Amino acid sequence: MQKTVLVTGASRGIGREIAVRFAKAGYNVAVNYCSHEAEAMQTVAMLNAMGGLFRVDNAAAFRADVSDPAQVEEMFTRIHGTFGGGVDLLVNNAGVAQQKLLQDVSPEEWDRLFGVNVKGMYLCARQALPDMIRRQSGNIINVSSMWGQVGASCEVAYSAAKAAVIGFTKALAKEVGPSGIRVNCVAPGFISTEMSAALAPEAAESLRQETPLERLGTPRDVANAVWFLASQEAGFITGQVLGVNGGLVV
Ligand code: NAP
Repeated sequence: MQKTVLVTGASRGIGREIAVRFAKAGYNVAVNYCSHEAEAMQTVAMLNAMGGLFRVDNAAAFRADVSDPAQVEEMFTRIHGTFGGGVDLLVNNAGVAQQKLLQDVSPEEWDRLFGVNVKGMYLCARQALPDMIRRQSGNIINVSSMWGQVGASCEVAYSAAKAAVIGFTKALAKEVGPSGIRVNCVAPGFISTEMSAALAPEAAESLRQETPLERLGTPRDVANAVWFLASQEAGFITGQVLGVNGGLVV
């Protein structure tokens, strides 16, 4: 049976590129988004156009705010209905960022950053795991950030949330390893997307200069790392953090 991947936050950026990677390999792809429906539909159209003339569509869009338990539960029910099975691979990619001094971050903004980046990952894993445990196989890949590893000034809440993603990954890997489920995480450096466009061009240029590989990252760089972690070749790898940062953080 064809495998199903759920990529959260796949309406654009890194999530879209991860969705492309798995669609090319013949997965059913559940494209999650929260607010940008037209962009999510564009992703789906792109994926379904990939296989040529005689193939069945294998991508569909699923709206859900990943920080909302009821919406996440309903999304998993709809994915079951659409693809006729559970999620084999969950990529917790949906995320929001913010640049502000800590004392200017409101409690509501703090809750939103943790709601999407951390609670969303927990809620999706919680829905995906029962099927994976029943099958004694599955794969969860979480998207953290190099700031979750080393911390960033003016991104304290984001750095703390992305550090939580790493802690979650390690602990869950230990918990579900005996059930044949691997849990890993990627920690991207600066990747050119809408999210990173919030950074001033001079700041982006100085990050580029500090990067040993002397370039900024692309969504494809991250998608390739996720692809590897999901593959059989990574079958003895779990609980790990794979940096995708051109050597900026080692
Ligand atoms: P992006 O271009 O801003 O895209 C963010 C995605 O997350 C969108 O598809 C968005 O969907 C979705 N999203 C936001 N809130 C959501 C919610 N409540 N429920 C469901 N989906 C939601 O960001 P990106 O650069 O591709 O980042 C993807 C991931 O990589 C994030 O976790 C980010 O923290 C991480 N990351 C990015 C960088 C970087 O430099 N870009 C570096 C390190 C880590 P809608 O627009 O439809 O709401």
